[in-house]
Amino acid sequence: QLPKIYAITPTYKRPVQKAELTRLSHTLMLVPNLHWVIVEDAEKKSELVANLLARTGMPYTHLHAVTPATWKIKPKEAWYNKPRGVLQRNAALAWLRANVRSDEEGVVYFADDDNAYALEVFDEMRYVKTVGVWPVGLVGGLMVERPKVNAEGKVVGWLTVWSPNRPFAIDMAGFAVNLKLFMSKPEGKFKNEVQKGYQESEFLRHFVTSLDDVEPKAENCTKVYVWHTRTENPPLREEIRLKKEAKPPSD
Ligand code: UDP
Ligand code: MN
Repeated sequence: QLPKIYAITPTYKRPVQKAELTRLSHTLMLVPNLHWVIVEDAEKKSELVANLLARTGMPYTHLHAVTPATWKIKPKEAWYNKPRGVLQRNAALAWLRANVRSDEEGVVYFADDDNAYALEVFDEMRYVKTVGVWPVGLVGGLMVERPKVNAEGKVVGWLTVWSPNRPFAIDMAGFAVNLKLFMSKPEGKFKNEVQKGYQESEFLRHFVTSLDDVEPKAENCTKVYVWHTRTENPPLREEIRLKKEAKPPSD
């Protein structure tokens, strides 16, 4: 029996949501022994997500947790101004702590709905015993951000340009935590109230105190198996115009 991958995906309603989740689900369906924990940023679970999950035929858990208005990014606001997916990831972590046997073999991974995943990334993370790390493409203003690995195969820092002195200068898509280690540290979670770019560090500090304990994956962090792609919000101007025309004149 392969160790299980618990993949946690926050998601929210927007025009591209079904396209993103279709693409992601069609990747995850190819991964053996993966349990998908999908958490909608919404007041309640939607039919769209429920139907999509049912069609995958894979093991999943469907949850919801709404981001309060104070933490929601406003329409004209820059996307990096506020953290995203915090309460949703925490809802998934709480579900895991309540439902997973503490002796189960596996890992926890955060799979945002808009990234691009090569199947290799799942092979790399599956046997991680502490915290596994690997490069992430198209992030931090670079083609790739990667952990710095020395000649002895130890992680000794982070090859990033933006804020390289963070304890863990790594994107959410670039690490997985061993399940038993995760279960042994009930305080490990995310917080809205952290400095920009410090979500990963805030979470990981609960599980690793020294870089010595971090496992470099993907051929000593030389291969890129996941990309922090971001999907354009499509300009639906014709949709908006047609909706306006359909309305009876107000005067
Ligand atoms: N997300 C969410 N609610 C929001 C914004 C984002 O649940 O209001 C989810 C989104 O679907 C994704 C994750 O949080 O899975 C990270 O968001 P995004 O991809 O926009 O951020 P980025 O990767 O650019 O930091
Ligand atoms: Mn994203």
